[in-house]
Order: sequence, then C-alpha cells, then structure tokens
Amino acid sequence: MHAFYQDESRRKLELPQSGATKPDFDIVVLHVCSLAWADLEAAGERNHPLFERFDVLFTRFNSAAAYSGPAVLRLLYGACGQVRHGQLYRGAPRECQIFPVLEQAGFRTAGLLNHDGAFDNFSKLLEYRGGLHGKVQVSRQAPVHMHGFDGSPVHDDYAALSGWWRQQQSQGGQPAALYYNTISLHDGNRLSSGGGRSSLESYKPRLRKLLGDFERFIAQLEASGRPVVLVMLPEHGMALQGGGMGQFSGVREIPEPRITLGPAALKLIGLPKARQPGSPLVVSQPTSYFDVNSLLADLVADSPFKAQGAALQGRLARVGNTPFVAENEGMVVMQDASGGYLMRNEQGRWKPQAF
Ligand SMILES: [Zn+2]
Repeated sequence: MHAFYQDESRRKLELPQSGATKPDFDIVVLHVCSLAWADLEAAGERNHPLFERFDVLFTRFNSAAAYSGPAVLRLLYGACGQVRHGQLYRGAPRECQIFPVLEQAGFRTAGLLNHDGAFDNFSKLLEYRGGLHGKVQVSRQAPVHMHGFDGSPVHDDYAALSGWWRQQQSQGGQPAALYYNTISLHDGNRLSSGGGRSSLESYKPRLRKLLGDFERFIAQLEASGRPVVLVMLPEHGMALQGGGMGQFSGVREIPEPRITLGPAALKLIGLPKARQPGSPLVVSQPTSYFDVNSLLADLVADSPFKAQGAALQGRLARVGNTPFVAENEGMVVMQDASGGYLMRNEQGRWKPQAF
C-alpha cells in the first residue's frame, strides 16, 4: 500500500492557465450520494436508459470512500492522486483542488446542493476545503420532494438543476464549472408524498426519479444549444443488498467494492451528431477521480467542440488507471495484482478477503 500512495503522490493534473486558452463550454459535475453498480443491479436499473445517453462510462470507477464526507473531499482533491484517509482532513494544496484549478483555467466555479448541507458540515467542506468559499447555494426555489432522516428538506433534482441552468444562461459570459450534490437516494429519506415505505423499499422509485431527472436535465442542456461537459460521479453506494463479512443492508463500515465501485460517466453535450460516439465508450480499467479529471483536463486543453476537435476515442487512450484502494477510518480494502482483495482491520492486520 505504501507503493500505491508513493505512486499516487506523484500524480498532478496540468491544466492550461486562463489566458492561454479560453474555455468554450460549461462543466457540470453531478455528485450522487448512495449509488453504486451493485445498488443499480439490486434495484434492477443497471440498464436504465440514462446510461445509454452518456458518451463515456467508467465501469470500474472507485470512489475510494464509503461515507459522504471523505467522498466529497476525495472528489474536491481530485486534481492530484489518491491520498490516505487520514490525510483528507488535513486539507490539500490548492493545486490539488479541482475547482480552484478549473477557476484558474477560466471557469466561474459554483456549488449547488439539493439539501441544506448542514449535516456533517457538508457545505463547509465545500467552502473551506474545496475552494468554493462563498459560492455554495442551496436550491431553495426548487420544490421539496422528500425529507432527510433529520427532517431537513430535500429538493427536487430536476427543478434545482434546471433553475441553476436558467440562471447561468441569463448571466452569459464566462463559462461555469458547477459542483452539484444530491442526497435524494440517501438512506433514511422520507418521501413528502407520505406512505409508510421504508427507505430501502423506496430506493427503487427514488432511483428512477433521480435518473429520469438527469435525463430531463440533459435534454434541457441539449435544447439550449450551448456546449456542456457533464460528468456524473458516485459518492459511495447504498449497500442495498448488504455485503461481504455479514455487513447488513445499509451498513457501510467496510469500504468494499460493492459500495465504492459506482457509475462514473461523462457526456459531451452540443457535439455535432456526426462526431458523437453513438453508444457509450467504456473505460474498464480501475479508475478514480484523478483519471476522470485527466480526461476533463484533456477536454479543457483541447476543446472537443471546436471544428477540428479530437475524437473521444483517442483521448480515452490517454486515461490512466488507479489500482483499487478504498478506505474508511481504520479499515482499508485493496485489490492485489491477481485480482483478489485484501482487507486491513482496525488492528492493522492484513488478510485476504472475498467480497
Ligand atoms: Zn453520501
């Protein structure tokens, strides 16, 4: 594991500085709480039409964390390689913070939440750790479609995103890079429409609603005629079906692959039809935030929307990989060269573990 972190510490994104090139598209990053491939399969939604609409699917994207706090820090610090769990809360140099890095490349950065961001100091992480100070909004204009486990309002995703987009278009000018966070799939949410369904029973309808909302939002972006690079990243899974080592449904103490491997995807909106791949290109090697961001950096450095923009296939050949290492406080799961998993328990002992 030491070698892994050594290698990761050498990875740093290079983006053009503002002035060198002027971005000609907006960036929207959708960060989804409680969504893993295993949850999609358990809910029977692995083949939801949304996934066909993306241009790139990362099928072995590892969120490297099983809880929201570390997951958001890992995303925010994704302009550098993966760090140990303990290092996350000590902050990261500005050159590792993806939104300030995008800001330097000429984007106006913003954060938007479909919840109040109070739990676990979520919006403070964005503001003070992720370089989005003073830029995080709560989508209060959007209708409340459910309540969180603590009774706080959770706003409708389509209305939130659509409202932001209208506002962004009316401002015109500088391209935006938006971080959007949704907790619509979080365990413990209660639908405002009532009903006694438990959070687990309501996962599937909430999932269908969220994926449908993303489809509608993509259609809205397409109709606007403005080029946008849309990225979807999972925070961590829901463990809908329970997991290895007797972890019950909903329990995420062990950061196992069925929790941390989730659907990361990218779509270029506004590309002429002839240059669209038609069906999603699949990146199947193990990846994490840095790899997705390296594709984003490639797009910023050499816009795909200009007349002679390079095709996605060639860009994907340059995407690297990140071996699977996932952590919670005290627990680490990693994949070895043979493809098997090893787990380090809180006492620091490693042992092979099937998941
Ligand atoms: Zn979460």
